[in-house]
Amino acid sequence: MQPFVYNALPSRVVFGFGTLAQVADEIRGLGCSRALVLTTPFQREAGEALVSQLGELAIGLYDNATMHTPVEVTREALEVVKNSGADCVVALGGGSTIGLGKAIALNTDLPQIVIPTTYAGSEATPIIGQTEKGLKTTQRTLKVLPEVIIYDVDLTLSLPPTMTVTSGMNAIAHAVEALYSKDANPLISMLAEQGIAAIARALPSLQVNPADKEARSDALFGAWACGVCLGAVGMSIHHKLCHTLGGSFDLPHAETHTVVLPHAVAYNADATPDVMARIARALGAESAAQGLFDLAAKHGAPTRLADIGMNEADIARAVDIACSSPYWNPRPIEPAAIWELLENAFNGHRP
Ligand code: NAD
Repeated sequence: MQPFVYNALPSRVVFGFGTLAQVADEIRGLGCSRALVLTTPFQREAGEALVSQLGELAIGLYDNATMHTPVEVTREALEVVKNSGADCVVALGGGSTIGLGKAIALNTDLPQIVIPTTYAGSEATPIIGQTEKGLKTTQRTLKVLPEVIIYDVDLTLSLPPTMTVTSGMNAIAHAVEALYSKDANPLISMLAEQGIAAIARALPSLQVNPADKEARSDALFGAWACGVCLGAVGMSIHHKLCHTLGGSFDLPHAETHTVVLPHAVAYNADATPDVMARIARALGAESAAQGLFDLAAKHGAPTRLADIGMNEADIARAVDIACSSPYWNPRPIEPAAIWELLENAFNGHRP
């Protein structure tokens, strides 16, 4: 056994079907009584329904959460927090909504109850990414770790088929990079394999029947497991590239993870053969990189950066940004090889 250091994170998790009914109890459990509900314009109706369900425990709805947590949106939301006298936030939605809740917590220390409706995993991490003037920066601080996560499998039944796959691949990316992280440890690696396997098992069933409750339950468990991995250990080249492409080129988050992941894994394959074997085993595939590519491609997810808004002319700048302040990576960062990785992802080559 390799020596390791493991930091456990404090968080309360409520997981099940119909658990949305427990939000009021969780607000009271935190000693709060004035919740500001957060969501996106797309999920406004669900946000309004939650506000009315909470009655006098809710003091309003802010429904302008935006992908990549732009600082202008956070400023606007902080005004609403100040004027409403909110004593906690309830984030209902995907990583964008949860990101806004974290940004509010960073500035105010208000406690957060988060109700994830995608598989992005942000709810389980003390990480916040924020975008200002076209650059996304991330920081780790316990100030943004949500106090309570309520997973309600029923809320994921509406996740559209393509987003189900891309969001699931986003989750898998956290587990994959946890396995070769410089802080890897046996507990998180076990969870990483379980998370990858649960999502890989769920996606084929969900393509046939998006309302398959057992498969939705597997996928949401997998999202939690993978989110815990992201929260516990450092990430590498894959996350660096995705932060670069999302923050500086405004590419969509989950789709970018989906397209880049097989290529990032191929980049690290020779440096981490044992990890590749674990990923392949969890996927039930011969090869980690090809297994990941096939999992996305077979279930209707995009496989080319060209198809999700990237211009080929921007690859050079993406290489510069990603290589100028790289995250630790098991294989040294070689700009020419990163360029090739992005070219392959741009064209959708099977690794
Ligand atoms: P998202 O939150 O932007 O959601 C995408 C769209 O899908 C939104 O319009 C949303 O309202 C809608 N949606 C969400 N759940 C739905 C459902 N069940 N049914 C129908 N529509 C639904 O997308 P995301 O991929 O979950 O999150 C991306 C953001 O999360 C990025 O900004 C990323 O940086 C951040 N993120 C942060 C961390 C972290 O640890 N800090 C981790 C993962 C992702």
